[in-house]
Amino acid sequence: MLQQTQVKTVIPYWERWMRELPDVAALAAAPEQRLLKLWEGLGYYTRVRNLQKAAQHLVTKHAGQFPRAFADVLALSGVGRYTAGAIASIAFNAPAPILDGNVIRVLTRLFAITENPRDKATNTELWELAARLVEAAAPRQHFAFCRPDLIVSGACSAINQSLMELGATVCTPQNPQCLPCPVRAHCAAHREGRVNELPNLGPRATATSREFHTFVVERDGKYLVTQRPAGIVNAGLWEFPNLEVTGRNKIPAATLQQLLQVSAHCEPLCEVKHTITRYRITQRAFRVVLKAKLPPAEERFCWLTLAELHQQPFTSAHKRILARISQPSN
Ligand code: SF4
Repeated sequence: MLQQTQVKTVIPYWERWMRELPDVAALAAAPEQRLLKLWEGLGYYTRVRNLQKAAQHLVTKHAGQFPRAFADVLALSGVGRYTAGAIASIAFNAPAPILDGNVIRVLTRLFAITENPRDKATNTELWELAARLVEAAAPRQHFAFCRPDLIVSGACSAINQSLMELGATVCTPQNPQCLPCPVRAHCAAHREGRVNELPNLGPRATATSREFHTFVVERDGKYLVTQRPAGIVNAGLWEFPNLEVTGRNKIPAATLQQLLQVSAHCEPLCEVKHTITRYRITQRAFRVVLKAKLPPAEERFCWLTLAELHQQPFTSAHKRILARISQPSN
């Protein structure tokens, strides 16, 4: 849940999720639409599908228990090298490295690495550096024999959490707090006066604007909606009929005709803006009151009452449009 999402946003989702699906077996057996409804609004729905696949894997291959070995954790759906390293080190104190945006920033500054961390060779170098740090923290048998008083229990967990936390709270992208920083004496970027140059992430990808016309089509107290097909982004979620429009085609009645093969008045309803990766998306929603039936070509759509709409999982932007039509004045 926390991938790409802030803690304060996640907390109510987490609490509801744990009430409804309190263990791995419950998650493994849950119907997809129930999962999507519980996840509705968090976005990046691949995460919830992977979570269920991982739960099913745990039930069938590990008797419902979470594995301790790094390779077994890495084999779970949706778990990459970073997440497997975080689980293995934080939960089980294994000497597994982690490398996320925060750790990259700390390491490139601490060691004054000037190459772009997105380049393959530099990325490999950073993983090796992170591995050396966590391995150095791991308790060693001979050391434990000589100086058991100096062994720090949970040291692998602690060093990885320290690196992430340092990047999140002290060594921030803008205005890093170098003065009180606990590793300032070892920081090459600080010594060389290059803190603001690092990490060298190269030019930012330019944002692309996209615009959609969305139609809240109403007939006899029911609304026209469709479920997104399998194999595309946000698969299985519900939405109102919509179509991307380009510079030459921005008349809503023309979009409606193209989408549903009907002519009707389109009343502006609301505008919803959101961002997905590098896309700045504007959904212009229009209300359409339909008297006639839709042509048969539009069987992929179905009619649901407002109460029924609220039972379905909607994409984030369309959930906001649904909230708009659910207001008392509408
Ligand atoms: Fe980051 Fe400054 Fe600390 Fe170096 S001294 S690790 S740049 S906060």
